[in-house]
Amino acid sequence: MSTAPAVLPVAPVLPRPKLVVWFLATLVAVHLLALTAFTPYVFAWWGIPLVLVGNFIFGSMGINLGYHRMLTHKAATFPTFLERLWVLCGVCSLEGSPLWWVCVHRIHHQHSDDSGDPHTPRESFFWGHMQWIYTADPRQRSLSTFEKYIPDLMTDPFLRWLHRGNKWILVYVAHALLIAAAGFGLGFLIEDTTEAAVQLGTQVFVWGVLVRTVYVWHITWLVNSAAHRWGYRSYQTSDRSRNNAVVALLTNGEGWHNNHHATPRACSQGHRWWEVDLTFTAVRALQLVGLAWDVVPVKVPKHIAGKKEETGRGGDKETADKTGTP
Ligand SMILES: [Zn+2]
Ligand SMILES: [Zn+2]
Repeated sequence: MSTAPAVLPVAPVLPRPKLVVWFLATLVAVHLLALTAFTPYVFAWWGIPLVLVGNFIFGSMGINLGYHRMLTHKAATFPTFLERLWVLCGVCSLEGSPLWWVCVHRIHHQHSDDSGDPHTPRESFFWGHMQWIYTADPRQRSLSTFEKYIPDLMTDPFLRWLHRGNKWILVYVAHALLIAAAGFGLGFLIEDTTEAAVQLGTQVFVWGVLVRTVYVWHITWLVNSAAHRWGYRSYQTSDRSRNNAVVALLTNGEGWHNNHHATPRACSQGHRWWEVDLTFTAVRALQLVGLAWDVVPVKVPKHIAGKKEETGRGGDKETADKTGTP
C-alpha cells in the first residue's frame, strides 16, 4: 500500500494568455472604418474587384505564398527580390511580423487541434477564428520559442529588421498612405472638381486598404476556424483539418487544408484536378519563366495515403503526424 507524499508536487505555473489591447483596438478600428465603404459617399461597385485584386496581391502572394508556403514550409524558392516582395505583401496584410506568423504556424502544425495549438477551433469557432489573436500567449513571442521554431529565419537580417520595434506596422502604414496618395492623385487627374477628386481618393483608400485588409484577415482566419471544422477529409491526418471548397475559393487555394496538413511542404494544396489552387498556379507561371525553383511536389506519406475518414468528428490521434517544422 502506498502512502501519499508529504509534500504535493507543485503544478507548473504557465503564463496566462494576455489581452493584446493595442491589437484588439486596431482590429475594432479598422473594421469600423471599413464599414464606411457602405455609406453613399464611399460606396462604389468597382470597389469589389479592387478588393479581389488586392486580395490576390497581398493575401495570396503575401500571406499564402510569402508567409505560409515560402517562409513557413520552404515549398518553393524565388530570387531574393521576389522573396522580399512576397514578404512585404504579407506585411501589408497587417497579420503580424513574418517571424511571429511563421512561429505560430509551425506551432500549429506540430500541435494541430491538441492543447498546444494556438488557434484550434475545438473550444469555439470564434476562438479559432480571431479571439486567439488578441489574447495571444506571451510564450509565442519569447526568444526561446523563436529559437525552437524559427532558427532558420532568425538569421535573416530583413526579417529581423521588420520584427524589431514593430517596423512591419510602419511598412503597413506607409503602403496605406501610398495607396491613398495614388487614389487622390488619380482623382485630381481625372475628375473636374476638387470635391469629386477627394471623394475618389477616399473611395480608393477605404476599398483598396481598409476593406481589403478586413477581407484578407477574415479569409485567412477562416482557414484556422472553418477549415478545421467543416468540409471533407481526403486523408486521415492526426488533426481535424478539412478541405473546405468555399474557403479555398475565397483564399485562392488555402482552403484545401486537409491536403495541406497531409503534405505540409508541398507547394500545391489542390490534390485533385478540381481542387483549384490559384496561388500555386501563380508559382507554376513563375517557374515557367525561371523565377521559381525547388517547387516541392505533392508526396503523401504512406501511412495516411488512401485512408479516408468521413465520420465528421476529426482525425484519429493514433495516426498522428506531428512532424512540426517546417
Ligand atoms: Zn491547420
Ligand atoms: Zn501550413
